[in-house]
Amino acid sequence: MKVAKFGGSSLCNATQLTKVANIIKEDEAIRFVVVSAPGKRDETDIKVTDLLIALHEQVVTQQDYSESFNTILARFANMVEVLKLSSTIIQHFEKVLRQYIQTIHDSERLLDALKACGEDFNAQLFSQYLLALGVNAQYFSPKDFGFVVTDEPGNAQLLPESYEKMAQFRDSDAILIIPGFFGYSKEGNIVTFPRGGSDISGAIVARGVRADIYENFTDQSYIYAAHPGIIDNPYAIKEITYREMRELSYSGFGIFHDEALEPLFQVNIPVMVRNTNQPEIKGTKIVAQRQYQEELPVVGISCDEGFTAISIRKYLLNRQLGFTRRLLQIFEDHNVSIEHIPTGIDNISVVVRSHYLEGVLDSILQEIQDKLRPDNLMVEDDLAIMVVVGEGMVAAHGMANKTTEALAQEKISIRMINQGASEISMFFTIRMKDKLNALQAMYRSYFE
Ligand code: ASP
Repeated sequence: MKVAKFGGSSLCNATQLTKVANIIKEDEAIRFVVVSAPGKRDETDIKVTDLLIALHEQVVTQQDYSESFNTILARFANMVEVLKLSSTIIQHFEKVLRQYIQTIHDSERLLDALKACGEDFNAQLFSQYLLALGVNAQYFSPKDFGFVVTDEPGNAQLLPESYEKMAQFRDSDAILIIPGFFGYSKEGNIVTFPRGGSDISGAIVARGVRADIYENFTDQSYIYAAHPGIIDNPYAIKEITYREMRELSYSGFGIFHDEALEPLFQVNIPVMVRNTNQPEIKGTKIVAQRQYQEELPVVGISCDEGFTAISIRKYLLNRQLGFTRRLLQIFEDHNVSIEHIPTGIDNISVVVRSHYLEGVLDSILQEIQDKLRPDNLMVEDDLAIMVVVGEGMVAAHGMANKTTEALAQEKISIRMINQGASEISMFFTIRMKDKLNALQAMYRSYFE
């Protein structure tokens, strides 16, 4: 039994809806379908979720929002027209939007309610279409399905008791069509997951109904070992573990939300990453343990940029009890979350995402000066982190060497090296300007 989730590009217009309907009709194992809001139809288009966010901005700043309002409805009306569905559904959507705008006065709550409309309307429209095709489908709101979440706007977390309620729908006769991206809090509010969160909803449904497989459909046939925009024809990954996938999604592989794996790996439900436009391709499978670990110790390479390192040198730093704690406390006090902390005997660096430092960097530096009195304090703000990921690295030899040699040949200097205790990933910090060369050189050394 499968849960299938279709992303925004798979549901952006009537043609794509038809492809999705065919996939569902041809695979009897698909019993639950989680949908995203309509995505971009071409490069210049705007996702419906972004249109809804813009609408919210106009509403709360008391601008004329009628054009945005109509553009959103037109996206759905166009699909209704091409698919020859009843237009009363558009009147219903209009009523819901107006009602939210008129009755929800808290700006953050209104934003979540409006954002949720993209997925919610798409699920309703798509189930009507399936019914028109003679498929026994039923729209199911996340509320009725049991999505109980925390009450923090834009950052919902599922409450574990939700799974029990979801399990009762396991043997439902109809194919259930559930909107992704949001749930309901105990206080009764609509609360969205972080952006891209329909992947998370799909994973939750898969776990809730104890699916055998979770299929995640996008417009890519595989997860590739490196970004296809940077490496020509990169190696297509057939199998990857949850842990490897988590590391790669965290460091820039956008195809699958990094929070979506958590519900699945605990109960060992495999994920298939598949392409709506090429359903004949089986795609990449995400599993607990993969084959060919020895032949292929490294599974992927990625690069994330926009990091700043704040480095301190202080003679006899290693002898000062509590130095690291006091340093990290300064970052915590400024609400800055930390990515890496490479250390030496008399030095320590704190690596963070640069955007967290906006407006607070000067006061962090001042506090470090005042409280820790370093011999030297240095800031580098143009850094990128290359990540090499693979479960097989623990058992293989010379893995770090491959990267350092590849970078040395390109005359790229490495600013820092970091490896976690699990040895599943290695991080090489370089300058942003060297990113392209570094990625290509590393790809050659691991995969060619
Ligand atoms: N529509 C939401 C977004 O654009 C969620 C999703 O597509 O997964 O972030």
